[in-house]
Amino acid sequence: MDPRVEKFLAVIKAKNPGENEFHQAVMEVAESLIPFIEENPKYKHAKILERIAEPERVILFRVPWLDDKGEVQINKGYRIEMNSAIGPYKGGLRFHPTVNLGVLKFLAFEQVFKNSLTTLPMGGGKGGSDFDPKGKSDNEVMRFCQSFMSELFRHIGPDTDIPAGDIGVGGREIGYLFGQYKRLRNEFTGVLTGKGRNWGGSLIRPEATGYGATYFAEEMLKTRGDSLKGKIVAISGSGNVAQYATEKVTQMGGKVVTLSDSAGYIYDPAGIDEKKLNWVMELKNIKRGRISEYAEKFGVEYFEGKRPWEVKCDVAMPNATQNEIEEEDAKMLVKNGCVCVSEGANMPSTPAAVTLFLEKKILYGPGKAANAGGVAVSGLEMTQNSMRLNWTREEVDTRLQMIMKEIHATCEKYGRKENGFINYVEGANIGGFIKVADAMLDQGVV
Ligand code: NDP
Repeated sequence: MDPRVEKFLAVIKAKNPGENEFHQAVMEVAESLIPFIEENPKYKHAKILERIAEPERVILFRVPWLDDKGEVQINKGYRIEMNSAIGPYKGGLRFHPTVNLGVLKFLAFEQVFKNSLTTLPMGGGKGGSDFDPKGKSDNEVMRFCQSFMSELFRHIGPDTDIPAGDIGVGGREIGYLFGQYKRLRNEFTGVLTGKGRNWGGSLIRPEATGYGATYFAEEMLKTRGDSLKGKIVAISGSGNVAQYATEKVTQMGGKVVTLSDSAGYIYDPAGIDEKKLNWVMELKNIKRGRISEYAEKFGVEYFEGKRPWEVKCDVAMPNATQNEIEEEDAKMLVKNGCVCVSEGANMPSTPAAVTLFLEKKILYGPGKAANAGGVAVSGLEMTQNSMRLNWTREEVDTRLQMIMKEIHATCEKYGRKENGFINYVEGANIGGFIKVADAMLDQGVV
């Protein structure tokens, strides 16, 4: 490791002990940025990177709620307001038992660069809880969301901080959170994105992350005169991002052969077509079942406790969670001929996996670029809320495609090497950094 990065990271580790995912995210960004900052001393003197790595505000609170048996349950609630240099804080809420301060800080840190890449005026934030919606009744989820918002409402607002969904927070949870916010504030504003269609939501927001990651894969393949048409695609996860990536890949002529959840993956060599995907959507979004049921329903193989990266594929789209592609998984992907990795999830590849992808000159689109379509359409939802207008499906989708192309162009501008190879990690980090850093310089030491 570059000794300058090592020195920087030592300070981060000392200041933020035990926050492993946060250290990992900062390291990856620092590796791209420190050489760039050395060449641009104005950023160095103003300690921009040091400031970006320190949240503007961290809010931690108690979330007490009553379960269906009348027993009191207590969870932790968090909101990390990371950076507001280019706009109000913006980023999702995650409800999952693995949530802790380090995980949310990594996500908020990534969000700053991602939001900057979208070209829209949004700062970065992230929040959530260690609450697990799995196995809870709708009433329990509602009581939890109401309690969560009863504290969060005083810290957020349509011009201050606008949360959205993430793992474990979909349309149902956004609805309960919005209802409680409206009741407490007595105002109907665009304080959350991912809202329902008939109460302020945007068309294409549910689809945006999965569609965007697919458009980004297509852009990457295009640089080598290739496309998704006819490609075998391995997808992990079976939630929001995985479902709509499956839909878009299929529409663009690719064949999706895997889906997974935290218990294992299914392999369907015939491809997960529209009919099967509709069944998955019903299973996951309404019945809230497990992906293993797909194997029983369609007579395909289910691999308990495994990840889909051992399957032969041309393109991989990790759409579940952080660190789900480890070095061994990356080796298998490369060995089996995978040429492109487009990350729908945040930081799904470990540093060793990323190093391998770059060494092997894989088209590797890191999450902060490839999955920025979700927050981009959240930004478009905010615009529509401000104008009190709704755009058509075509209009939002066209804007999403344009934004994904622009993000790709930014990555290319800052990431293209002399030998022609595009290092999307460097491109996304430097491209996302400049806009935020210049705004911070303009605004003084705040
Ligand atoms: P969902 O809750 O809809 O789905 C998450 C999926 O990932 C589920 O299939 C879940 O399986 C699986 N999963 C979650 N945790 C783990 C784990 N520890 N190990 C293995 N599998 C796991 O979330 P989303 O689809 O919204 O989010 C997926 C990823 O995309 C996340 O990294 C998120 O940060 C990222 N993302 C999402 C955006 C959005 O707009 N929703 C925007 C940008 C990024 P199970 O049901 O078993 O838990």
